Amino acid sequence: MLPMVKTHLYKPDLVIVISGPSGSGKSTVINALCKADETLRESISVTTRNPRPSEVDGVDYHFRSKSEFEKQVAQGSFLEWAEYGGNFYGTLKSEIVVTHEAEKDVILEIEVKGASQIRAQDLSPARSLFIFIVPPPFATLEKRLRRRKTESESEVNERLAIAKSEILEIEHFDYWVSNPENAVQEAVQQIQTIIAAERSRIDTQLIETINPLLGVDNTD
Ligand code: 5GP
Repeated sequence: MLPMVKTHLYKPDLVIVISGPSGSGKSTVINALCKADETLRESISVTTRNPRPSEVDGVDYHFRSKSEFEKQVAQGSFLEWAEYGGNFYGTLKSEIVVTHEAEKDVILEIEVKGASQIRAQDLSPARSLFIFIVPPPFATLEKRLRRRKTESESEVNERLAIAKSEILEIEHFDYWVSNPENAVQEAVQQIQTIIAAERSRIDTQLIETINPLLGVDNTD
């Protein structure tokens, strides 16, 4: 279990970036994680790709046309955005604000180019945490992608090619989590442990919170 967020010492301020190649099982793990823990909320991205049969606008993604997406880029609405497999995907800045205002930490399930854009930014008063879901051996990844039947043959091949380059980005992440077949719960627990540690990090915000409680003036 994650520690209670509503303590006098912790104010949710984490932007938890979770990346990993297509087929690594990110979505399954993140859905299970957010279901298990009401102190976490997944950000809903904007995308120009077509919805899959089971997907709902405003729940899985905000599905938008390319011109609507470009308009939001021009308005500066995105914290990050990237092109993936011929479509655009982006995280709205407002998703971070709304989630923190609701006193939850925010989870971003994004690809690696978006993750590196976030790494390059100062998010204060928020802070970022980068977790990489390590894919299974390549043959299993290929099997998983074909089994779910959500992509055409050429899209599967494109996703496998992208996966190879994404794996090389792991060195820029803070933590890795493996997600072997039938082990979603283990992956969820591993991520919960990482988040729990991050929430206990001693940082400026904690010191500013704790000092008045100890009778120390923060302006000293
Ligand atoms: P899918 O089409 O399978 O839903 O997503 C394709 C890839 O885009 C996945 O790696 C997914 O994590 C990533 N993705 C989803 N939302 C965003 C986003 O807002 N920004 C970025 N950069 N990537 C995203």
